[in-house]
Amino acid sequence: MNDTAGETLDLSFVIPLKNEAESLNELYQRLVDVIERLAVRFELIFVDDGSTDDSLALLQALRGEDARVKIIQFQGNFGKAAALAAGFEHAAGRIVFTMDADLQDDPAEIPAFLKKLDEGYDLVSGWKRIRQDPLSKTLPSRLFNAVTARLTGVRLHDFNCGFKAYRREVLANTPIYGELHRYVPVLAAAKGFKVGEVVVRHHPRLHGRSKYGIERLTRGLFDLLTVLFLTRYLKRPLHFFGGIGLAVGGIGFLCLLYLTIIWMFGAPIGHRPLLLFGVLLVVFGMQLVSVGLVTEMLARLTSHADKGYVIRRYYF
Ligand code: UDP
Ligand code: MG
Repeated sequence: MNDTAGETLDLSFVIPLKNEAESLNELYQRLVDVIERLAVRFELIFVDDGSTDDSLALLQALRGEDARVKIIQFQGNFGKAAALAAGFEHAAGRIVFTMDADLQDDPAEIPAFLKKLDEGYDLVSGWKRIRQDPLSKTLPSRLFNAVTARLTGVRLHDFNCGFKAYRREVLANTPIYGELHRYVPVLAAAKGFKVGEVVVRHHPRLHGRSKYGIERLTRGLFDLLTVLFLTRYLKRPLHFFGGIGLAVGGIGFLCLLYLTIIWMFGAPIGHRPLLLFGVLLVVFGMQLVSVGLVTEMLARLTSHADKGYVIRRYYF
């Protein structure tokens, strides 16, 4: 995030889009209608993530009339997380909103987000309590949200909601890549930021097609693992790998100890499957401990990337 962005605004809107030409004019109009009533200084940053339709031309036309419209055009399709990251990098607002470009998120909800931020929250996530999407999408999503909330301890109902509002400091301290954008609340909460949610109306997609299918779920699962690891063990990977390694190796050791004892009493053990099993566990356990040590070295080498703490304020 660029903290030297000359002039600071009140609000930035980062809107990733891929082939949303039919929605853009209406989205712009509704956004401006709502925001102008708030009497704030704002910018709309549209990130064109490799559209192949008229999206860019439409945005350029909007920018021609309104300098508050900013456009970042990607060379190709790099995904929503990359589009959000690029938008964040250039956002000058004290508060940064993200929303989808397909009109499923309703600009009329913006004041509700601001109110929640005023109550002292640092990050406010939308919750599409009633979702206008097919069941094949909503059902896995519910399960996914429940598991994520449970494992991360961050009590949100709708991690995937593209409609969110962040205080600038949150984004400056949470790097996103891959598909991690949906876990920014988890990463932020791990740094002590206060995370809340507001119920938002959700509209069915009227134009164009959804860019995501079921494959989002498996990717989301891997990212959940990444996030759990990042928030809990980034600074001490040996505790993670070493812990599992010792447990596995310990069980293997007990198996072999048992076989050794009965062997000393004369029992033949060469044909025992338990022998192979024990050896396997010991080797696997040692491997995990070694991986833990190697990652510990990596963590040391790369620790400058993330200080591991965030200062809220100085009282010098
Ligand atoms: N999007 C994007 N890059 C992509 C896929 C999607 O910028 O590779 C944008 C898309 O144009 C929309 C938002 O991300 O503004 C959410 O996508 P979509 O509406 O397809 O997801 P859904 O609402 O179906 O979950
Ligand atoms: Mg959508």
